[in-house]
Amino acid sequence: MTDRDPECLFCRIAAGEIPSDRVHEDDDVIAFRDIAPRAPTHVLVIPRRHIADAHALTDDDAELLAKLFAVVRRVADAEGLERGYRVVTNVGPESGQTVFHLHLHLLGGRPMAWPPG
Ligand code: 5GP
Ligand code: ZN
Repeated sequence: MTDRDPECLFCRIAAGEIPSDRVHEDDDVIAFRDIAPRAPTHVLVIPRRHIADAHALTDDDAELLAKLFAVVRRVADAEGLERGYRVVTNVGPESGQTVFHLHLHLLGGRPMAWPPG
């Protein structure tokens, strides 16, 4: 697997070629605000490495997956989401996935309906 897809929007955001409102960055993970927020807090948490979606993860990605969720927790704390929040990842076209680089949506700051549409 290549680390980067030059055609991929989120690879380009991770590389800083396209600006984003970053709320976290480290060697493996970045988090930035969604351009079209669906909640008062709507942050996307992504690996720097290009992985198409959650279905493309392998056993070797266990550590990376833990890091992604550690960033979710840190951002949720920083955003004051102690009343709760939702973590969503879409997989494939029928789920509504539009950017094919793994991302966790962190949504919070308002009550959430269940089930999602
Ligand atoms: P998906 O539909 O693939 O689960 O989520 C993709 C998300 O990326 C959408 O919520 C969309 O608003 C967001 N998005 C698309 N293009 C950009 C962009 O250029 N910058 C940022 N910050 N978010 C984007
Ligand atoms: Zn990518």
